[in-house]
Amino acid sequence: MNLPNLVEARKRTNSKVNKVNYKLDDNYLNIGNGKTYYVKTYGCQMNEHDTENIEGLLDSIGFIKNSEMENADIVILNTCSIRENAHNKAFGMLGRLKHLKEERPNLIIGVCGCMAQEEVVVNEILAKYRHVNFVFGTHHLQDLPKLIYENMDNSKTKIDVYSIEGDVVEGLPVKRANSFKAYVNIIYGCDKFCTYCIVPYTRGKQRSRKMEDILSEVNELKNNGCVEVTLLGQNVNAYGKDLNLGYDLADLLENVAKTNVPRVRFITSHPWDFTDHMIDVIRKYPNIMNYIHLPIQSGSNRILKLMGRRYTREDYKILFNKLREIPNVSITTDIIVGFPGETEKDFLDTLDIVNYCKYDGAFTFIYSPRVGTPAAKLYENDKTTLEEKEHRLYRLNELINDYSLESNKRMLNNIYPVLVEGKSNKDEMMFGYTETNKLVNFKGSNNLVGKIVKIKILDAKSFSLDGELVE
Ligand code: SAM
Ligand code: SF4
Repeated sequence: MNLPNLVEARKRTNSKVNKVNYKLDDNYLNIGNGKTYYVKTYGCQMNEHDTENIEGLLDSIGFIKNSEMENADIVILNTCSIRENAHNKAFGMLGRLKHLKEERPNLIIGVCGCMAQEEVVVNEILAKYRHVNFVFGTHHLQDLPKLIYENMDNSKTKIDVYSIEGDVVEGLPVKRANSFKAYVNIIYGCDKFCTYCIVPYTRGKQRSRKMEDILSEVNELKNNGCVEVTLLGQNVNAYGKDLNLGYDLADLLENVAKTNVPRVRFITSHPWDFTDHMIDVIRKYPNIMNYIHLPIQSGSNRILKLMGRRYTREDYKILFNKLREIPNVSITTDIIVGFPGETEKDFLDTLDIVNYCKYDGAFTFIYSPRVGTPAAKLYENDKTTLEEKEHRLYRLNELINDYSLESNKRMLNNIYPVLVEGKSNKDEMMFGYTETNKLVNFKGSNNLVGKIVKIKILDAKSFSLDGELVE
């Protein structure tokens, strides 16, 4: 077992990746017959999609999905490690599950996801959470039937993690959360090693799927009535780099657009790998959505360097200006405040770039130290108080919200196509998303779910729009 180690992990970059075709072992068929499962998911879209595979695997061996954790025969926590609070939530849930297991000793509990790739976490589970049956890492989803089979006797905790590398596994069963919109992985892992980030360790090396595998998945989705696909990766713009086959995200986007699936999205983009060819392709195809999530993280060149982001604020602005020329584009970002050593001046540089970019929206975070990452060492000498960091976050959010509202107000009285996703929390209201990924609430009926309808915008807030159906 090794802690995340930057030097060791970097050595992996050129090693070969194997493509493995998943096949269910006949021994595991029907082991779940008559039993139910509950999967609790934390974190990003990648985890949400992993859960779709986990549920597909569980269905394939006979289990049935249960909407209540309290009654399920097997509970799986698909965890996230990006920040400390994600850890805390999962450990809190493990505490609750201890009581459940005391009431029902036959309950099987599994932990997977990014936390399962961290040595400190796994040690803590082994020491303090003995009611957990098995832990399996992000590269081991395909082993789930075997792990369940081995745990049917409910004896002791089994671990199936620690591989830093990973294969590309094709053909895993999938139980999609929606029939009309789908996530499609295009690249796994990350080799960027931003100094604050745990992902390159928990998700392993950068591994692209072959273009033909991606296109056949998209075509199948489209033929089954799916209207929106989101191409997924920690850094989708690096797609293809590891394959050396002479194609990249621009080529892939073009081919996916040509399948004529009505909406194509991609997330997340790293500014470093964004080429002019990619921008040309986005402009050329109307079914590639004019929405770009382009994390900047900080507006200070000094902090960007410490973060290992490999661009300056000047580079970012040049790219940003090119992207802004995409007609009606909406651009959002991620920003971290309180990176170790961030001064008020560095923070003002961040506010300054927000004023320059006038983002349509942003996810903002206070820096959270991750064990074993280079920035965690800098954090040991960080003098800025949490109170000051919280104040910076507050000031940043106020500014971001002003610009989101401004951008939403520009949409007032115009009509936009909206993909209807479901019932909103408000009575009798439905919700959906514009092509630019803006949330819209409107009065309508359930039979609109999965359809693209025209909505006139009547009211704008910072985080959502209200509108009315015009057809
Ligand atoms: N790969 C994407 C990128 O580079 O933009 C996103 C990765 S991460 C799942 C999403 C966001 O979490 C990052 O963009 C960053 O803003 C934030 N994040 C990552 N590590 C963090 C940390 N240690 N503390 C606070 N925020 C963090
Ligand atoms: Fe983490 Fe994203 Fe940087 Fe990769 S590119 S290390 S996932 S923040």
